[in-house]
Amino acid sequence: MKFVIATKNPHKVLEFERILTPLGIEAVSQEALGITAEAPEDAGTFAGNSLQKAMAVHLASGLPTLADDSGLEVDALGGRPGVYSARYGGPGLTDAERYQKLLQEMEGVGERRARFVAAITLVFSAEKHYSFTGICEGKIGYGPMGEGGFGYDPIFLVGDRSFSQISGAEKDAVSHRGKALRELAEALPDILEIV
Ligand code: IMP
Repeated sequence: MKFVIATKNPHKVLEFERILTPLGIEAVSQEALGITAEAPEDAGTFAGNSLQKAMAVHLASGLPTLADDSGLEVDALGGRPGVYSARYGGPGLTDAERYQKLLQEMEGVGERRARFVAAITLVFSAEKHYSFTGICEGKIGYGPMGEGGFGYDPIFLVGDRSFSQISGAEKDAVSHRGKALRELAEALPDILEIV
């Protein structure tokens, strides 16, 4: 079975592939199919935005399509940046500029608890779509640690290591996206009977 992955983020495509391939699902990125469709991402919730993204690419591809919408909720910031994580600090910033801004906002703050949240939506048609959520609890470090990963990985710690310091397999085992995708995998046999 083939699912189109509605994202232009190559790191996310890699994570989807890593988790879906062992489940016998072929993950094809929207870019590999030449699809440029984009969603407004203005639903205000992770689940709503992931549905928008998946639906936009499903309409362009005609194939089952999977999208995630994800972000970082920081307790000391009242849950910000949350659904606005990709836009935090304004347009045109690099990942490093965004996490440096977050570190600045957290200067002198002792409460470091935070979580990554991912909503994943699988769209078969305008009527048949299924959403799953995964949460990964952690904390914000005091500076970037490690080189790997993307986005806020260098400043997000689970235990005493950042997401940039662990292997892909270790990240998948605990990450928000890994959890949401495993929920989906569990539900997939029942879903495939319905669609
Ligand atoms: P989206 O691609 O529109 O869903 O935006 C997600 C935002 O959260 C981006 O700024 C990502 O960098 C960030 N993000 C989501 N998942 C992760 C992750 O696993 N590691 C680091 N940053 C992430």
